[in-house]
Amino acid sequence: MSWNRYGIGFLVLVALVGCEKPVAERPMVEIHGRTMGTFYGVKVVGDFPGGQQALQTQVDSLLKHYNDEISTYDPNSSLSKFNQQQTSTPFPVSQEMADIVISALRVGQRTQGVLDVTVGPLVNLWGFGPDKRPVKTPTDEQITAARQRVGIQHLHVDVSADHAALRKDVPNIYVDLSTIGEGFGADKVAEFLESRGVHNYLVEIAGASRSRGVNAKGDPWKLAIQKPTDELDEVQAIIKPDGRAISTSGSYRNYYELDGKRYSHIIDPATGKPITHRLVSATVITPTSLEADGLDTALMVMGPEKAMAFAKQQRLAVYLVIKTDKGNFILAYNLVPHLMSVFNAKEYS
Ligand code: FAD
Repeated sequence: MSWNRYGIGFLVLVALVGCEKPVAERPMVEIHGRTMGTFYGVKVVGDFPGGQQALQTQVDSLLKHYNDEISTYDPNSSLSKFNQQQTSTPFPVSQEMADIVISALRVGQRTQGVLDVTVGPLVNLWGFGPDKRPVKTPTDEQITAARQRVGIQHLHVDVSADHAALRKDVPNIYVDLSTIGEGFGADKVAEFLESRGVHNYLVEIAGASRSRGVNAKGDPWKLAIQKPTDELDEVQAIIKPDGRAISTSGSYRNYYELDGKRYSHIIDPATGKPITHRLVSATVITPTSLEADGLDTALMVMGPEKAMAFAKQQRLAVYLVIKTDKGNFILAYNLVPHLMSVFNAKEYS
């Protein structure tokens, strides 16, 4: 979520708190920018060929390329053109577009359709996509009609050595990759840095991050999970990702109120409605950011009990924040031991 754009500032705070003696810092190249309707930041420890300006230009251009491919907010993106084509004719796409859709479908199958990138008609009906917010709560008839256009089983990817295409067997299926786009982007920026010989870096796009190596002080990177409140700089916990990707999804900042009820942007494909349970934030730690970004949303759909059962069954490192009846928060986690040691995991009110 866009609130995590302050994560980089938290890293500075953590480094200051964690180091009693001043240490000689290595040079660092740092850039910030806008992409995918949110903010991104990249830190490279050591030199980058061509310096900060070259890093900014190349990362901006890379992210623009992916935005042009997968944005549903741009009617001219490749994905929007596929969505506009209301037939079952195969639609040629780049190999990368095929790969991201295949990855999205895999996470969808792994979560038994809870993560569903064809949920776009419902996202838009509830006013969380490019369409305007509804002035009235959608009716059951509208929800039922939108649900007829939802289901990952209707979306197919055809790939051969020199050709890739997307195909839908319900002609008006609409694909929304918002839930994994930021994670995909963070992975691609990390791959780009690695290809330039950079091995100490941190990449953040909204709530999705990838990092490797050490920060300017020579310490492992540390990332903050924010408290599920309106205060942007309250830290809930610190994670040492140790080369893994981290992504957080939450229901408490992207919402609106209508007819006296609060609606979050996370949609349960089984009901066609925004979630209503008490899980307010889910953080997932996995090798790739795309996977973490898809799974955090899936956990948010599942709710606290099912999310924790899923994490245990899948041996997934997760950190959940749950709101209680009394209005305070409790934490639940399933983490590998060395990650757990850096969590400040205690009940608070
Ligand atoms: P996440 O938890 O990562 O994802 C939640 C989002 O996933 C929901 O908002 C919804 O779109 C979708 N979703 C909800 N339920 C499900 C489900 N069950 N299964 C699958 N998906 C679900 N926003 C703008 O306002 N303007 C822009 O120009 C813009 N451009 C974008 C371009 C790209 C390429 C991408 C990927 C996103 C863009 N966005 C834009 C959207 C925005 O930046 C966020 O991606 C979006 O608000 C949700 O991301 P999140 O991290 O907050 O939530």
